[in-house]
Amino acid sequence: LVRMKFLQLLSRKPGKLEMLFQIPFCQKQFPYLSLATSTCLCSKKKKGNSYEQVDQEKYKKLVYSVTSYKTSAQTPETIFEEDNLIYGPPDKCRPPAGAETKTPKNWFPLINPNRRILPLNSDSNLPMKIPLQRKKMPSVTRILQQTISPQQAFYLERWKQKMILELGKDGFEEYTKNLFLHGELFHAALESVLLPEKTTAKDQGEDAAISGYLSSVQHVLEDISDVRALESAVQHETLQYLGLVDCVAKYRGQLCVIDWKTSEKPKPLLKNTFDNPLQVAAYIGAINHDANYDFQVSCGLIVIAYKNGSAAHSHFMDPGLCSQYWNKWLLRLEEYRDKN
Ligand code: MN
Repeated sequence: LVRMKFLQLLSRKPGKLEMLFQIPFCQKQFPYLSLATSTCLCSKKKKGNSYEQVDQEKYKKLVYSVTSYKTSAQTPETIFEEDNLIYGPPDKCRPPAGAETKTPKNWFPLINPNRRILPLNSDSNLPMKIPLQRKKMPSVTRILQQTISPQQAFYLERWKQKMILELGKDGFEEYTKNLFLHGELFHAALESVLLPEKTTAKDQGEDAAISGYLSSVQHVLEDISDVRALESAVQHETLQYLGLVDCVAKYRGQLCVIDWKTSEKPKPLLKNTFDNPLQVAAYIGAINHDANYDFQVSCGLIVIAYKNGSAAHSHFMDPGLCSQYWNKWLLRLEEYRDKN
């Protein structure tokens, strides 16, 4: 009898384990996790559909308990990493049907082949600052927001719900309001730091709320020179979109579109910055095809400044990386056009 039970256990166990790992990805329950289904779809096909008898309600709870075991404040990034740890990378079995394999229908070069670059006498030139005008063109941020991946929307929503649980609805509103305000203050402060000294009245009494962010980027500022544009509007004349770049300057000798980001959580890797690299690539392409600018940019830099003042992470994007993200951006732009 004991042996029989043991055998039963043996034959049962693998099945249970399998269910455990596959049910979370079941498309019916988790439509947002469609990308993550790639691992299970393969084995599903081989085995036929033996999961229909599974008590889905029961496992839903189990999955919930696994994914929500932390009570600390999380960002979409940390949740994403956490899920990645729990479930493993989703693209082992076959490439995801997403952006990685697609190529834009109407490809357009990032670099403008027709632009002649004039030799610059950079010292005398003030950075450009073209004001953003209301136009019919959509902005880069709007396009990215409206084409956000279901996975990202899911993690974002989950983070939001968690924050509301912690802070209350009003508390969360206050929190996001301050987040935006401090972001704006920080950008304005950097703009005045990067302007040539003669033109700016410095020591405007820095806000204590952003002093951490400012000391965080101090070491990055030492590598920045030859500022060509600050908080300046860019528009892609052919692809018809616009945006406001934080800064165009040399970083360690290479001309970059620079985007400052504020963060309360570490983002040590470029992949932690979600759509930020697409945004930077979009700005580079726009600058290169905007008649207001007479230079050409092929690199990008994303600087993550930390509220607590710890050293900012700077993520340099070389021309190869920029081209990769440019293709991803073109796909998102096409997706946006299809929707609107
Ligand atoms: Mn920024």
